[in-house]
Amino acid sequence: MRDTELLRGLLRVEDPWNVVESVLDIAHKRVDVRLEWKGPGRCPDCDRECPKHDHRERVWRDLDLVGDALYLHAVVPRVDCPEHGVHTVKVPWASGRSEFTDRFESVAIALLLEMSVAAVARRMAISWDHVDSIMMRAVKRGSERQAPQLVRHIGIDEKAFKKGHHYFTIVSNLDSGTVLWVGKGRKRETIDAFWRGLSREQLEAIEGIAMDMWQPYFESTFQYVPQAQNKIVFDRFHVTAYLTKAVDFTRRALMRDTSLDRTALKGTKYDWLRSVKNMDRTERRELSDLRRQYRQLGRAWAIKEHFAEFWRYRRESSARNFFRGWFHWATHSSFRTLSPWLTRSNGTSRISSPTFESRSPMPPRRALTVRSRW
Ligand SMILES: [Zn+2]
Repeated sequence: MRDTELLRGLLRVEDPWNVVESVLDIAHKRVDVRLEWKGPGRCPDCDRECPKHDHRERVWRDLDLVGDALYLHAVVPRVDCPEHGVHTVKVPWASGRSEFTDRFESVAIALLLEMSVAAVARRMAISWDHVDSIMMRAVKRGSERQAPQLVRHIGIDEKAFKKGHHYFTIVSNLDSGTVLWVGKGRKRETIDAFWRGLSREQLEAIEGIAMDMWQPYFESTFQYVPQAQNKIVFDRFHVTAYLTKAVDFTRRALMRDTSLDRTALKGTKYDWLRSVKNMDRTERRELSDLRRQYRQLGRAWAIKEHFAEFWRYRRESSARNFFRGWFHWATHSSFRTLSPWLTRSNGTSRISSPTFESRSPMPPRRALTVRSRW
């Protein structure tokens, strides 16, 4: 098999395009592939065969080929349609003016579900601005077409860009791990637009929605999805992230407290954020000393650690019982910072699920049982 033939298959190049040349540059770890258009040009608007007007040389970055950066080159013809005028013919591997192929862009968006923007930029060897432009094009595509299939489990995540100066909302199919839709911003209107694009049948087919603890997502979902109160789920990752943030918030408040001897507290940021199961014996002893010295922070840490038990319950009633006790403990503790933080979360970002909220608070006895374990 000739290399051009192999590449034609690998890159899924179809008529009238053809692979005519490939160059491997081992020193620079890159592969350059040249594609050529054969036959008459067609108008992108009406698909009519038209005379070629001129052409443009273009380059796209494609997915790496065994670790080497892959670039597609093509001379893209422009046709002169008697009805629609001069237009560039559409290439099947990329959209609009993007410097990346469609498959490169979808991999970047899928990775964003699992990594930070910085990590995606690093992994794919592109700039933050490139990730940003990829997301903007995904938003445009999202507003042009609707999700066609029935999806049972949906994920809604926010992604911060430029240190939180702007946001994107990514909706994914959790069963297949694919991205369904991308919207600009993280407002209620942002996610409203996604729900509005779904049919009644699609909305009713949804069984579970895992989302960030973010009130606008919550409100929008309640408005559009039937029985949303039984479908919204906060996943372990997001809940743990909130609790970890609350502990760090408490630590920072202590660091600002000048009435306190903070010597031992300095440089311990990551000791409080780690889980006890990842510590060796010495580390555990050191943390236990710190907890005795800074009781308020020690308790915030204990509340965070204790919540890990929640995920072990298999029976709903036991999980509810645990949650009520834990929630009472966390919100009625004497320390200053974690308590209002949790209460605020409960009011505006809903740290607890709505079904938990509607129940009466735990009797104090149960809360004491939970507390006495620490
Ligand atoms: Zn035309």
